Amino acid sequence: MQSVTKLLLWGCALAIGVRSSTVAHAAVQSPINITSYNTYYNPALPAFNFNYSSSTTLDVHNTGSPDTEATVKAIVGAGAGSLTLGGTTYDLLQFHFHAPAEHLINGVASALELHFVHRSAGGELLVVGQLFVVGAFNSSIDPIFSDLPLVSGDQKTVDGFNLNALLPNTLTSFRYDGSLTTSPYTGGVKWNVLTTHSSLSQTQLDGFLALFPNGDSREEQDFDGFVLTDLHGFSSVPEPTSMAIGLLCVIPIVARARQKRS
Ligand SMILES: [Zn+2]
Repeated sequence: MQSVTKLLLWGCALAIGVRSSTVAHAAVQSPINITSYNTYYNPALPAFNFNYSSSTTLDVHNTGSPDTEATVKAIVGAGAGSLTLGGTTYDLLQFHFHAPAEHLINGVASALELHFVHRSAGGELLVVGQLFVVGAFNSSIDPIFSDLPLVSGDQKTVDGFNLNALLPNTLTSFRYDGSLTTSPYTGGVKWNVLTTHSSLSQTQLDGFLALFPNGDSREEQDFDGFVLTDLHGFSSVPEPTSMAIGLLCVIPIVARARQKRS
């Protein structure tokens, strides 16, 4: 079984013209530019099963503004949130914000990106990214954004916060294996950037940018791997080919996960 899996991984790598080391060792750094050309359509990606609290307490920290590696981070209590994906459950540890967005979509950076950081019992990191554009006022993030911790080291407490309200109704995503975007840039992070944008008002964005006048985003990293998506119509690879490659790449990934667990 292991050799079959290996063969499929090689086939997958060769089929889309990437080095096998990219697939096997997850040395990819984040963030990346997600494009129609490096993304493959797979309508059968495992579904997200979020189990987030609709009323929880947040400890909101300013981790060191205006340092571009700092952020505003909301630490959630134990048991406030988890995500099950592909048979593994990941606990929500914290979420935080980057402006402008770190992940580019076809070269374009949104105004803001939220990262939900999760960890499994086995220590695997999984991040869900939510992109925001400037538009309508966002009441979901307002309990944080209307009372930001303005000074480095400052901390605020937010009660009764609804984590579910941060998630869009449609949970299609871009998925790849990358890294943390801040020191120590740990690899092996499972990235899931949601394809549906949220909005926030210009005033809300300006409040955050007042803390980080030079932004708090890591620059785009070189990427010669591939992204999988269940968003129909995004990939520019002709669909039957794209679907075949997408499915081909998922089979060995799932098989490897099963081998690891057993
Ligand atoms: Zn982040």
